[in-house]
Amino acid sequence: MSLSIGLDIGGTKFLVASADARGKIIQRAVEPTPAGLDDGIAVLHRMIAAVSGGQKIIAMGAAIGGPLDWRQGIVSPLHQPEWRKVPLKAIMQDRWQCNFFVDVDTNVAALGEYHFGGEKASRFLYLTLSTGMGGGFLLDGRLYRGVGEQHPEMAHQSIHYRCSNPAGIQCECGVPDCLEALVSGNGIRRIYGKPAELLNEDEWNEVSYNLGQGLRNLAILYCPEVIILGGGVAIGRGKPLVTASGEIMAAHLQLVAAPRVRLSRLGYDTALMGAIAIAMHGLE
Ligand SMILES: [Zn+2]
Repeated sequence: MSLSIGLDIGGTKFLVASADARGKIIQRAVEPTPAGLDDGIAVLHRMIAAVSGGQKIIAMGAAIGGPLDWRQGIVSPLHQPEWRKVPLKAIMQDRWQCNFFVDVDTNVAALGEYHFGGEKASRFLYLTLSTGMGGGFLLDGRLYRGVGEQHPEMAHQSIHYRCSNPAGIQCECGVPDCLEALVSGNGIRRIYGKPAELLNEDEWNEVSYNLGQGLRNLAILYCPEVIILGGGVAIGRGKPLVTASGEIMAAHLQLVAAPRVRLSRLGYDTALMGAIAIAMHGLE
Protein backbone atom coordinates (compact mmCIF):
# COMPACT_ATOMS: atom_id res chain seq x y z
CA MET A 1 0.00 0.00 0.00
CA SER A 2 1.12 3.59 -0.71
CA LEU A 3 0.78 6.09 2.11
CA SER A 4 0.33 9.80 2.68
CA ILE A 5 1.90 11.18 5.85
CA GLY A 6 0.49 14.05 7.92
CA LEU A 7 2.50 16.01 10.53
CA ASP A 8 1.02 18.40 13.10
CA ILE A 9 4.15 20.12 14.42
CA GLY A 10 2.97 21.92 17.55
CA GLY A 11 4.80 23.85 20.25
CA THR A 12 3.91 21.26 22.91
CA LYS A 13 3.49 18.05 20.93
CA PHE A 14 4.08 16.43 17.55
CA LEU A 15 1.32 14.33 15.96
CA VAL A 16 2.23 12.20 12.96
CA ALA A 17 -0.03 9.80 11.07
CA SER A 18 -0.02 7.65 7.96
CA ALA A 19 -3.15 7.46 5.81
CA ASP A 20 -4.40 5.39 2.88
CA ALA A 21 -5.48 6.72 -0.54
CA ARG A 22 -8.82 7.91 0.87
CA GLY A 23 -7.26 9.70 3.83
CA LYS A 24 -8.16 7.07 6.40
CA ILE A 25 -5.58 7.00 9.19
CA ILE A 26 -3.61 3.73 9.27
CA GLN A 27 -1.24 4.43 12.13
CA ARG A 28 -0.47 7.40 14.36
CA ALA A 29 2.15 8.56 16.85
CA VAL A 30 2.42 11.38 19.39
CA GLU A 31 5.53 12.76 21.15
CA PRO A 32 6.25 15.85 23.27
CA THR A 33 8.02 18.62 21.32
CA PRO A 34 11.77 18.60 22.08
CA ALA A 35 13.33 21.99 22.84
CA GLY A 36 16.14 21.78 20.26
CA LEU A 37 15.86 21.94 16.49
CA ASP A 38 18.12 18.93 15.74
CA ASP A 39 16.25 16.82 18.27
CA GLY A 40 12.94 17.97 16.80
CA ILE A 41 13.90 16.94 13.26
CA ALA A 42 15.26 13.61 14.52
CA VAL A 43 12.03 12.91 16.41
CA LEU A 44 9.94 13.70 13.29
CA HIS A 45 12.06 11.32 11.16
CA ARG A 46 11.65 8.59 13.79
CA MET A 47 7.88 9.12 14.01
CA ILE A 48 7.50 9.03 10.21
CA ALA A 49 9.49 5.79 10.05
CA ALA A 50 7.29 4.29 12.77
CA VAL A 51 3.91 5.16 11.21
CA SER A 52 4.95 4.23 7.65
CA GLY A 53 6.31 0.81 8.63
CA GLY A 54 8.64 0.70 5.62
CA GLN A 55 5.83 1.14 3.06
CA LYS A 56 6.06 3.55 0.14
CA ILE A 57 5.30 7.20 1.01
CA ILE A 58 3.67 9.18 -1.84
CA ALA A 59 3.68 12.62 -0.22
CA MET A 60 3.74 14.42 3.13
CA GLY A 61 1.93 17.44 4.50
CA ALA A 62 2.65 19.45 7.63
CA ALA A 63 0.89 22.02 9.80
CA ILE A 64 3.08 24.36 11.85
CA GLY A 65 2.84 27.79 13.49
CA GLY A 66 3.74 30.83 11.41
CA PRO A 67 5.47 32.76 10.11
CA LEU A 68 6.59 30.67 7.14
CA ASP A 69 7.16 30.64 3.40
CA TRP A 70 4.88 27.89 2.11
CA ARG A 71 6.30 27.87 -1.42
CA GLN A 72 9.89 27.36 -0.26
CA GLY A 73 8.81 25.40 2.80
CA ILE A 74 10.94 27.51 5.15
CA VAL A 75 9.50 27.74 8.67
CA SER A 76 10.09 29.91 11.78
CA PRO A 77 7.31 28.92 14.21
CA LEU A 78 6.93 31.69 16.78
CA HIS A 79 6.50 29.34 19.76
CA GLN A 80 9.51 27.12 18.91
CA PRO A 81 12.35 29.66 19.41
CA GLU A 82 15.14 27.38 18.10
CA TRP A 83 13.31 26.88 14.80
CA ARG A 84 14.30 29.91 12.74
CA LYS A 85 14.37 29.84 8.92
CA VAL A 86 14.37 26.05 8.89
CA PRO A 87 14.25 24.63 5.30
CA LEU A 88 11.80 21.94 6.36
CA LYS A 89 10.64 21.09 2.84
CA ALA A 90 14.21 20.53 1.62
CA ILE A 91 15.10 18.51 4.73
CA MET A 92 12.08 16.23 4.38
CA GLN A 93 12.23 15.81 0.59
CA ASP A 94 15.92 14.96 0.87
CA ARG A 95 15.41 12.33 3.51
CA TRP A 96 12.14 10.78 2.26
CA GLN A 97 12.32 11.33 -1.51
CA CYS A 98 8.69 12.45 -1.87
CA ASN A 99 6.73 15.70 -2.19
CA PHE A 100 6.39 17.69 1.02
CA PHE A 101 3.91 20.53 1.62
CA VAL A 102 3.71 22.82 4.65
CA ASP A 103 1.49 25.75 5.62
CA VAL A 104 0.35 27.72 8.65
CA ASP A 105 -1.52 25.45 11.06
CA THR A 106 -4.81 27.36 10.84
CA ASN A 107 -4.79 27.21 7.02
CA VAL A 108 -4.05 23.51 7.16
CA ALA A 109 -6.79 22.96 9.75
CA ALA A 110 -9.30 24.75 7.50
CA LEU A 111 -8.38 22.37 4.65
CA GLY A 112 -8.69 19.38 7.00
CA GLU A 113 -12.17 20.40 8.04
CA TYR A 114 -13.12 21.01 4.40
CA HIS A 115 -11.88 17.68 3.05
CA PHE A 116 -12.74 15.44 6.01
CA GLY A 117 -15.40 17.29 8.04
CA GLY A 118 -18.30 16.21 5.83
CA GLU A 119 -19.26 19.63 4.50
CA LYS A 120 -17.76 21.36 1.44
CA ALA A 121 -19.42 24.78 1.56
CA SER A 122 -18.27 27.13 -1.18
CA ARG A 123 -17.41 29.96 1.25
CA PHE A 124 -15.92 28.22 4.22
CA LEU A 125 -14.42 29.92 7.26
CA TYR A 126 -12.55 28.00 9.94
CA LEU A 127 -11.38 29.45 13.27
CA THR A 128 -9.05 27.84 15.80
CA LEU A 129 -9.55 28.94 19.38
CA SER A 130 -6.78 27.42 21.50
CA THR A 131 -3.69 28.85 23.26
CA GLY A 132 -3.79 31.51 20.56
CA MET A 133 -6.31 32.09 17.81
CA GLY A 134 -6.30 32.06 14.02
CA GLY A 135 -8.36 31.23 11.00
CA GLY A 136 -8.45 30.23 7.36
CA PHE A 137 -10.92 31.19 4.64
CA LEU A 138 -11.57 28.85 1.69
CA LEU A 139 -13.26 29.81 -1.55
CA ASP A 140 -14.39 26.64 -3.38
CA GLY A 141 -11.82 24.68 -1.42
CA ARG A 142 -8.91 27.03 -2.18
CA LEU A 143 -7.17 29.07 0.49
CA TYR A 144 -7.64 32.80 0.34
CA ARG A 145 -4.17 34.38 0.54
CA GLY A 146 -3.40 38.05 0.96
CA VAL A 147 -1.01 40.21 -1.02
CA GLY A 148 2.57 38.94 -0.80
CA GLU A 149 1.23 35.50 0.26
CA GLN A 150 0.25 36.93 3.62
CA HIS A 151 -2.03 34.95 5.88
CA PRO A 152 -5.06 37.00 6.98
CA GLU A 153 -4.80 37.40 10.75
CA MET A 154 -8.47 37.29 11.70
CA ALA A 155 -7.76 37.03 15.42
CA HIS A 156 -6.08 40.43 15.49
CA GLN A 157 -9.16 42.46 14.63
CA SER A 158 -10.48 45.05 17.05
CA ILE A 159 -13.95 44.43 18.43
CA HIS A 160 -16.57 46.06 20.61
CA TYR A 161 -15.86 44.09 23.80
CA ARG A 162 -17.14 43.53 27.32
CA CYS A 163 -14.56 42.80 29.97
CA SER A 164 -14.69 42.82 33.77
CA ASN A 165 -10.88 43.23 33.96
CA PRO A 166 -9.82 45.46 31.06
CA ALA A 167 -6.35 45.92 32.60
CA GLY A 168 -5.71 42.26 31.71
CA ILE A 169 -6.25 42.71 27.98
CA GLN A 170 -2.90 42.45 26.19
CA CYS A 171 -2.32 40.80 22.85
CA GLU A 172 0.91 38.91 22.16
CA CYS A 173 1.23 40.75 18.82
CA GLY A 174 1.83 43.97 20.77
CA VAL A 175 -1.48 45.69 20.06
CA PRO A 176 -3.62 46.09 23.19
CA ASP A 177 -7.15 45.39 21.95
CA CYS A 178 -7.20 42.34 19.64
CA LEU A 179 -9.95 39.70 19.67
CA GLU A 180 -7.30 37.07 20.44
CA ALA A 181 -6.44 38.87 23.69
CA LEU A 182 -10.07 38.45 24.83
CA VAL A 183 -11.02 34.90 23.81
CA SER A 184 -7.89 32.75 23.32
CA GLY A 185 -6.58 30.45 26.06
CA ASN A 186 -3.64 32.75 26.85
CA GLY A 187 -5.88 35.84 26.70
CA ILE A 188 -8.37 34.25 29.09
CA ARG A 189 -5.56 33.42 31.55
CA ARG A 190 -4.35 37.03 31.53
CA ILE A 191 -7.82 38.53 32.04
CA TYR A 192 -9.42 36.03 34.43
CA GLY A 193 -6.29 34.57 36.09
CA LYS A 194 -7.26 30.97 35.29
CA PRO A 195 -7.60 28.56 32.40
CA ALA A 196 -10.74 28.52 30.25
CA GLU A 197 -12.06 25.30 31.83
CA LEU A 198 -12.34 27.08 35.21
CA LEU A 199 -14.32 30.11 34.03
CA ASN A 200 -17.70 30.70 35.69
CA GLU A 201 -20.89 31.42 33.72
CA ASP A 202 -20.54 35.22 33.96
CA GLU A 203 -17.02 35.01 32.60
CA TRP A 204 -18.12 32.68 29.79
CA ASN A 205 -20.85 35.18 28.95
CA GLU A 206 -18.17 37.81 28.37
CA VAL A 207 -16.02 35.47 26.28
CA SER A 208 -19.04 34.38 24.21
CA TYR A 209 -20.10 38.00 23.70
CA ASN A 210 -16.61 38.97 22.56
CA LEU A 211 -16.28 35.99 20.25
CA GLY A 212 -19.74 36.78 18.85
CA GLN A 213 -18.59 40.31 18.01
CA GLY A 214 -15.56 38.85 16.22
CA LEU A 215 -17.80 36.44 14.28
CA ARG A 216 -20.04 39.33 13.35
CA ASN A 217 -17.09 41.19 11.79
CA LEU A 218 -15.97 38.08 9.91
CA ALA A 219 -19.52 37.41 8.68
CA ILE A 220 -19.98 40.94 7.40
CA LEU A 221 -16.62 40.97 5.59
CA TYR A 222 -16.42 37.44 4.17
CA CYS A 223 -20.14 36.49 3.92
CA PRO A 224 -19.39 32.78 4.47
CA GLU A 225 -21.97 30.00 4.46
CA VAL A 226 -20.53 28.49 7.60
CA ILE A 227 -18.09 29.41 10.37
CA ILE A 228 -16.51 26.41 12.06
CA LEU A 229 -14.91 26.64 15.49
CA GLY A 230 -12.09 24.29 16.48
CA GLY A 231 -9.19 24.23 18.95
CA GLY A 232 -9.04 23.34 22.63
CA VAL A 233 -10.97 26.31 24.04
CA ALA A 234 -13.85 25.89 21.55
CA ILE A 235 -13.97 22.09 21.77
CA GLY A 236 -13.68 22.26 25.58
CA ARG A 237 -16.63 24.60 26.09
CA GLY A 238 -18.51 23.11 23.15
CA LYS A 239 -22.11 23.82 22.29
CA PRO A 240 -22.81 26.61 24.83
CA LEU A 241 -20.02 28.71 23.27
CA VAL A 242 -21.23 28.03 19.72
CA THR A 243 -24.83 28.87 20.58
CA ALA A 244 -24.11 32.00 22.61
CA SER A 245 -21.53 33.50 20.23
CA GLY A 246 -23.70 32.64 17.20
CA GLU A 247 -26.64 34.45 18.78
CA ILE A 248 -24.55 37.56 19.52
CA MET A 249 -23.28 37.50 15.93
CA ALA A 250 -26.78 37.16 14.46
CA ALA A 251 -28.22 39.87 16.73
CA HIS A 252 -25.68 42.36 15.37
CA LEU A 253 -25.94 41.44 11.68
CA GLN A 254 -28.40 43.34 9.55
CA LEU A 255 -27.22 43.56 5.97
CA VAL A 256 -25.90 40.06 5.29
CA ALA A 257 -27.34 36.64 6.09
CA ALA A 258 -26.06 35.10 9.32
CA PRO A 259 -23.81 32.12 8.54
CA ARG A 260 -24.25 28.86 10.42
CA VAL A 261 -21.79 28.47 13.30
CA ARG A 262 -20.77 24.99 14.38
CA LEU A 263 -18.00 23.03 16.09
CA SER A 264 -15.29 21.21 14.17
CA ARG A 265 -16.19 17.57 13.52
CA LEU A 266 -12.55 16.50 13.73
CA GLY A 267 -11.94 17.46 17.36
CA TYR A 268 -8.23 17.70 18.13
CA ASP A 269 -7.25 16.14 14.78
CA THR A 270 -8.22 19.05 12.52
CA ALA A 271 -4.65 20.15 11.74
CA LEU A 272 -3.42 16.55 11.46
CA MET A 273 -6.20 15.71 8.99
CA GLY A 274 -5.42 18.92 7.12
CA ALA A 275 -1.79 17.84 6.86
CA ILE A 276 -2.98 14.57 5.30
CA ALA A 277 -5.27 16.58 2.98
CA ILE A 278 -2.39 18.73 1.67
CA ALA A 279 -0.24 15.62 1.21
CA MET A 280 -3.05 14.19 -0.95
CA HIS A 281 -4.09 17.37 -2.80
CA GLY A 282 -1.02 19.64 -2.66
CA LEU A 283 -1.09 23.39 -1.99
CA GLU A 284 -1.71 26.35 -4.24
ZN1 LIG B 1 -3.05 40.96 18.29
